[in-house]
Order: sequence, then structure tokens, then C-alpha cells
Amino acid sequence: KSLPYFCRGEVIRGFGRGSKELGIPTANFPDSVVDNLPADISTGIYYGWASLSNGDVYKMVMSIGWNPYYKNTKKSMETHVIHTFKEDFYGEILSVVMVGYIRPERSYDSLGKMLISVRPYDVIEAKVSWTTQSTPQKKLFKEDNFFTPVA
Ligand code: ADP
Ligand code: MG
Repeated sequence: KSLPYFCRGEVIRGFGRGSKELGIPTANFPDSVVDNLPADISTGIYYGWASLSNGDVYKMVMSIGWNPYYKNTKKSMETHVIHTFKEDFYGEILSVVMVGYIRPERSYDSLGKMLISVRPYDVIEAKVSWTTQSTPQKKLFKEDNFFTPVA
């Protein structure tokens, strides 16, 4: 399908869902990045690699969901980088490659549940995917020139 999918963009403020308070901060991409997604890409949870400007490449887990701010007519992209950062990185450029799909977006039955995009379970699932569904090719994307810092 559409994978691997490479993209990068500025980290912007999200919906203030309080993801961080729940232990899973998710870095949001602006509409310009979301609008470039293939129109038929499935909503749900993806895993792959991510790096910040000039930084190391880490595993990530991403939620592509329907954006409540646009009454669910547009998508949103929220990336949890599987690494503990000392500081927030709003305004920095985040580069990601999605290499695999974990599961569809949940059908939410209550407003409360809709507030959380990436759950702790997804982080575990992403790590499991790296051992069970991984291929040498998926691992090699970590070394892709896409992640090579530009001087
Ligand atoms: P927001 O609603 O603004 O997206 P979150 O609670 O989801 O707020 O926190 C996201 C922010 O947390 C990111 O934009 C980033 O600056 C910071 N952050 C710190 N560590 C991480 C991480 N491991 N993965 C993603 N974002 C992180
Ligand atoms: Mg967020």
C-alpha cells in the first residue's frame, strides 16, 4: 500500500488532550503535512522511525486519526517518539518514516475515550511489532539518507 511513508514537518501544539499527563506525549504535525497524506491511507496506529533536527533516530508509534477540530473531516497525525527527552521540542522539525501498520483506529463509544490517541498498549505493541513483523528492510530505514542531518 502506501508504506513506507516518509514525511517531515514542524512540531506544533496539539489539541491539549493532556497526552503527556497520561504518559504518552504525541507530537502533532501541521495541516500542511497531513494534507500530503495519500487520500486513501487508513486511520489507525503505525510504527516506524523518527528523528528530530540533527538528532538520533528512534522508534516511534504514530496515530493517524480523524481530527476533532475539523469535525472529523480531516485527519490528524500524532507521533510518540519512543525515547525520553529532557525537554519539549515544539517548533523543531520532526522526520518520520512509517514502516508498518498495527491496527485500525478504535471506534469510540464515549467522548472520554476519544481524547487519547496513543495508548500505553500501543507503545508495547509497536515494540512487539519490531520483533515479530520486522524485516531487515524495515530496520534499515533507520539508516536512510532521509535521516541524515543537512549541514
Ligand atoms: P500537545 O497537545 O501539544 O500535542 P502532548 O501532551 O501530546 O501535547 O505533548 C506533546 C509534546 O511533548 C510534543 O510536541 C513534544 O514537544 C513533547 N514531547 C516530549 N517527549 C516526547 C516524546 N517522547 N514523543 C513525542 N513528544 C514528546
Ligand atoms: Mg499531542
